[in-house]
Amino acid sequence: MSDLKRAYNFNPGPGALPLEVLQQAQSELLDFKGTGMSVMEISHRSKEFEAVIQTAEADLRELLGIPSNYKIMFLQGGATLQFAMLAMNLRPAGASADYIVTGAWSKIALKEAQKLGTARAAANTEADGFNCIPAKLDLDPKAAYLHFTANETIHGVEFFSEPTPLDGVPLVCDTSSDFISRPVDISKYAFVYAGAQKNAGPSGVTVVIARDDMLERTPANLPVMLDYKTLAASGSLHNTPPSFAIYMVGLVFQWAKRQGGLAAIEKVNRVKAGLVYDAIDQSGGFYRGHAKPEARSLMNIPFRLPSEELEETFAKEAKKNNLIGLKGHRSVGGMRASVYNAVTVEGAQSLVDFMKEFQKKNG
Ligand SMILES: *Cc1c(COP(=O)(O)O)cnc(C)c1O
Repeated sequence: MSDLKRAYNFNPGPGALPLEVLQQAQSELLDFKGTGMSVMEISHRSKEFEAVIQTAEADLRELLGIPSNYKIMFLQGGATLQFAMLAMNLRPAGASADYIVTGAWSKIALKEAQKLGTARAAANTEADGFNCIPAKLDLDPKAAYLHFTANETIHGVEFFSEPTPLDGVPLVCDTSSDFISRPVDISKYAFVYAGAQKNAGPSGVTVVIARDDMLERTPANLPVMLDYKTLAASGSLHNTPPSFAIYMVGLVFQWAKRQGGLAAIEKVNRVKAGLVYDAIDQSGGFYRGHAKPEARSLMNIPFRLPSEELEETFAKEAKKNNLIGLKGHRSVGGMRASVYNAVTVEGAQSLVDFMKEFQKKNG
């Protein structure tokens, strides 16, 4: 392994995984816990896999402090399926739901909910280029729920405190790209979901955390794979689950615990994001961040250079320096550094060193 060359991986998703986790998966790949089989080859009803999924759940409960009146599910279809599925389950027929639109992902979530019924924007920051958290919300007191996207992966804006719904309106959150990046008070939420591949594992599994009363909303006529009540009651084992992805997510939860938990992880994430934002702020306008300072994401940092030509060159030269995945999303343009949990301080520092060097040569 001494000649192993790992990239400094700033991909937005699938994103970087901790090296230790990959090494553990590699060491267990051919013979999982003495079974003589890979975890991919064993029954999802075996006692070995039961331990995998139960440990993953228990570790997540511990990491996030999830109370016992919440169920945890490991589902397929990505966060994108949740956009539709949560509307089908949590919004009674004829009712409306509220969405806070702060970027590309919440915009899609609202659109999906509108295909199936009534949903409205309680705020929409598109006119500002999705660079901020809305100061004011226009809330419907009868809304079935209030949905928000904790971190907008493309626009790089993040909520650092939850929006406050009106009394009796459950708070629903897409936390795909800042899941387990810092502590949150789950008791403020009724329903939380996250595709794993940004911060918690490989693609193929979506973690859903649902308060028990939310499961009572599931209508009787839903196809079973869209029915939270049944899926939760079966412990995510109604049919064959994405077993390898669940195993990997479980290893990431264990890794997160070894780092000292989410408070310790947040500290490191603040150091990493701080390095990059400081480099932007100290560049005299050569680098320009997208989000307003108070809304700046700790996970995804989109920024522009003086010209598209320089941005092309930046991406190319960064790649030569082993800094991968920095091209921004086409809708925002420019660059984007995703500094998820598994990106090291050393990785962020390498990026900052490169940014300074690049500006010296091209500024
Ligand atoms: C990536 C992402 C999604 C979509 O996730 P899929 O798993 O690809 O469906 C939804 N919301 C946010 C915030 C994301 O970052």
